[in-house]
Amino acid sequence: MQKPNTHRFQIRIEWRGDTPKHMMWRLPVWTPGSYLIREFSRHIEWIQASSGTELLPIHKIDKATFEVQCPENTSLLTLTYEVFAYDLSVRTSYLDTSRGYFNGANVFLYPDTDIAAAIELEVIPDTGWDVATALPRLDKPGYCFIASDYDTLVDSPVEAGHFQRYIFEACDVRHELIFTGFEDVDLSALVHDIPRIVEAAQSIFQSPLPYTRYVFLVHGQVQSGGGLEHRNSASIMFDPFMLHDPEKYSRILGLFAHEYFHLWNVKRLRPTYLGPFDYQHEVYTPLLWVLEGWTDYYAWILLARSGVVESGRVLDYFAEAFRQLDLIPARHQQSLTQASFDTWIKLYRPDGNTPNNTISYYHKGALVALALDLSLRRATGGRESLDSVLRVLWTSYGDQGYPDTAVDSALVQIGGPFMRQLLDQWVYGTEDIPDDVFDTVGLKLLREFKNLSQKVPYTGIVAEQSAAHSVVIKHVLKGSPAESAGLAPGDEWIALNNYRIPFDAIEARLSACSADEPITITIFRHHELHTFTLTPDSPLPDRWRFVTDPLAAEEARTRFTEWMGTPIP
Ligand SMILES: [Zn+2]
Repeated sequence: MQKPNTHRFQIRIEWRGDTPKHMMWRLPVWTPGSYLIREFSRHIEWIQASSGTELLPIHKIDKATFEVQCPENTSLLTLTYEVFAYDLSVRTSYLDTSRGYFNGANVFLYPDTDIAAAIELEVIPDTGWDVATALPRLDKPGYCFIASDYDTLVDSPVEAGHFQRYIFEACDVRHELIFTGFEDVDLSALVHDIPRIVEAAQSIFQSPLPYTRYVFLVHGQVQSGGGLEHRNSASIMFDPFMLHDPEKYSRILGLFAHEYFHLWNVKRLRPTYLGPFDYQHEVYTPLLWVLEGWTDYYAWILLARSGVVESGRVLDYFAEAFRQLDLIPARHQQSLTQASFDTWIKLYRPDGNTPNNTISYYHKGALVALALDLSLRRATGGRESLDSVLRVLWTSYGDQGYPDTAVDSALVQIGGPFMRQLLDQWVYGTEDIPDDVFDTVGLKLLREFKNLSQKVPYTGIVAEQSAAHSVVIKHVLKGSPAESAGLAPGDEWIALNNYRIPFDAIEARLSACSADEPITITIFRHHELHTFTLTPDSPLPDRWRFVTDPLAAEEARTRFTEWMGTPIP
């Protein structure tokens, strides 16, 4: 990181070992946890191969592979290259005069002969910078670390710069919180709450934490966000201004809990093909509804069980998630397993047709996890739960990888053959989750209107405000009045009933219209003005919330407390 102003990392790889005459070096095309082909090799600007003082021939044989021609008995091969790094996200790499951050998959070539060898990593940061990573540090001068193999190197992002480091012990294990970009921000609430989430997660598995040190790399960035999981660390990015708002703060905690829970679910408890990885091709799995959906479910459950967020707020989150799912036409078209398999071309590549074309296995996966959890509790009289399923998987497979059938089998083992039927309905099929699953814990899901005097007739238009402050139709939902009328994603919405439509006024202006009475919508499409007539449907309840069933039996109240770790609100 000697020239941070150029946003380029200078990389030097020294290879000691067998060097075939034609040695292939590759850069991954994707990074684990983020299921999109990203073609990281496009950021390599030049490369040189040498042995001692002798330059060796090197040329590309495909988009991500370099072939080096090595003389016989080459014992030391050196590759030197530069990587442009100016992509501000948790899954990519970034360098400027304030900080450097990288994921190994973006920057480190690997030899196709051997990715199991241990790798020593020396990071040379800019003057005065500190370096943080989950990799163990070697007892020698400089920032030298050891990775047991290439997978571990890639799984251990590195942060360099001026950061704040908080250390805490939880479950007798050292944890580090590395905060970059939070100058003059009060972090005391986070520093207080994160250890409690760690302890609540550990208590699900009822076994020692499977690591000796864990690092949260946390980056504050206005109007940005995201997280990426690793075995012994997590990269987390959020807007520091969110810390001041209780609702947004709970979402930040949810992000921490989500990425942390992944240290089990996906990084260790995983299908066999998700580690070690094929870094050159898409890796397909039908199980992201478990790997991501259950993780999202447990993130929110952990917030309640650890006491850092009130259970009422967690229930509000789930109720809103059920409402949002109800608006997505694709829920009756695409199953969770299909959504998982197709993530490379659908969820990770959203467009105007996405709600008609795919469901999110995070979103629906979390709600199905909730429904399975409550169904297990009902089927077993409260003796077992989804926690039990996780423990069975952890005890049976640990860190070894499991077959695709393992999750279904564990569910049936714990809950009986009835679980197979639920899987067919909610996971392999596209049936909605019925409300009676909530009876188990004494809850009712109410569907209401926020404002009875401002009910918004249903058009099926999802609009957004463009950077130029115009109103753009983002989605036209399948089967909706807007689709019948012929509107399309990308249309610039100019007027409603011949009056200009400001973005902030859409709901109010539509609520002044009646369902079943035609309205006109004027748009620009490809620079041409068009007016469409559509007839809205009846308004849909826009506020869903869980309430305690006043008739709930004592048993249901007990179930709730076992579930959330806190009495029913
Ligand atoms: Zn995740």
